[in-house]
Amino acid sequence: MIARRIVGSVEKRVAAESIGRARAETERLATALARQRDDIVAASQFDSGDDEHDPEGATIAFERAQVQALLRQAQDDLAALGKAAERVGAGVYEVCERCGGPIAEDRLLALPATRICIACANRR
Ligand SMILES: [Zn+2]
Repeated sequence: MIARRIVGSVEKRVAAESIGRARAETERLATALARQRDDIVAASQFDSGDDEHDPEGATIAFERAQVQALLRQAQDDLAALGKAAERVGAGVYEVCERCGGPIAEDRLLALPATRICIACANRR
């Protein structure tokens, strides 16, 4: 079998691998964050529950909010990576959604979920 190289675009296999790696990493992160949040919630159940007047409770509430925000970000990233995999399948992975131009391979490998080219990203 002859290996084919599509000139000027990211090979589907390479793109799928890079998205898969990013997904696995983000999934690990999301799992760790969910566990951390559950631990904070479980620990806070032994508290007085008076977040406003108990400085310890306020710290716990702050930590929980931070972990929750990071978890939401990880879930958004996973959704974006899922969309990226669909774009690979549809053959439009390296097409900028804004200008229709090509997205550089380096950029796609560094930011597997990106949907816009560097020029459009800088114009934002
Ligand atoms: Zn563009």
